[in-house]
Amino acid sequence: MTTTETAVSKKEQLKGKTLSELKEWFLANSEPSFRGEQVFNWMYNHLAEDYSEMLNISKDLRKKLDEKTILNTLRITDKKVSSSEGTVKLLLKTAQDNLIECVIIPEEKRCTLCISSQVGCPLDCKFCATGIMGYKRNLTPGEIFDQYAIAQRNYDRAISNIVYMGMGEPLLNFKNTVKSLEIFAEELTTGISLKKVTVSTAGIAPKIKELADTGLKPKLALSLHSCFEEIRSKIMPINDKYSLSETIKSVFYYAEKTGTRITFEYVMLKDINDRIEDADALVKLCRRIPSKVNIIPFNSLQHINPKGISAELIPTSKKEIEKFANYLRDKNITVMVRDTQGSDIAAACGQLAITQTA
Ligand code: SF4
Repeated sequence: MTTTETAVSKKEQLKGKTLSELKEWFLANSEPSFRGEQVFNWMYNHLAEDYSEMLNISKDLRKKLDEKTILNTLRITDKKVSSSEGTVKLLLKTAQDNLIECVIIPEEKRCTLCISSQVGCPLDCKFCATGIMGYKRNLTPGEIFDQYAIAQRNYDRAISNIVYMGMGEPLLNFKNTVKSLEIFAEELTTGISLKKVTVSTAGIAPKIKELADTGLKPKLALSLHSCFEEIRSKIMPINDKYSLSETIKSVFYYAEKTGTRITFEYVMLKDINDRIEDADALVKLCRRIPSKVNIIPFNSLQHINPKGISAELIPTSKKEIEKFANYLRDKNITVMVRDTQGSDIAAACGQLAITQTA
């Protein structure tokens, strides 16, 4: 880290403050509260990179802000574009030199940004590269938002959807995740309504209920991956802390309280969760709750030399995945089979892991 960066990182971070917090901040700094609304608009709507862009704010105040606060929390250090589908993976660095990733996934009718909520992840799901790299720290609300700001500034199509499905477990960084959702939800912001934002969790049962009680109503995705306690514990150690039955109860609470449909994420692992009894258990669960199943082909983790169970996991074949999906469809379950977009640049689901030294 250079001396300048050390100095910069000691400044106060304005990005990540909600509208009311910004108004209070300006009042506390002897400025009218409407300045808070103006800066909010520049940061979160116009995605300004520099205070000099904020033309309805006086030069003197812009200079003061520049001296006292930090506007950008992340910078791009690498950009990879998938040769086949145009998926873009951005490697970003925080002021403390932590590395995180976000991924832009363009599709015909929408363009989704997958963002990270932590540097690494403490949950160690056996099919996930991020889990294997371990946990460093929570991201601030500003760093969560800045992934969107940087991605949008560097991409010519409008990002229409956001998924908290990158590195980390968003509900273990609850306060900052909720704050970032509050910023996205604000009318003055990006224009992306929370109906287009999905929070994905491995199943932090009490926090799922707490999220429902915030009234924010983003969509919820549960990384389910098995309907059987024993199998789920084997591939997702968090299941030993919050059992599947407890997690499902909180997911039911979420669906009822928010009136939203739950997505069950299901990564297909040969002979582990792709048997007929797995499909039947999934049908039984889906019939009890407004939901859909998102089937994810397992992506190789060989790029990070996995050990233990992770090294033994084998992807279910494409043909078997289709068979499994059709079995569910025949029982009137809504099923999507996700493609392995971005696998050539290790940007596909479960592949995000920093291989450089952070
Ligand atoms: S799947 Fe999600 S919760 Fe599990 S280790 Fe990976 S990033 Fe963490």
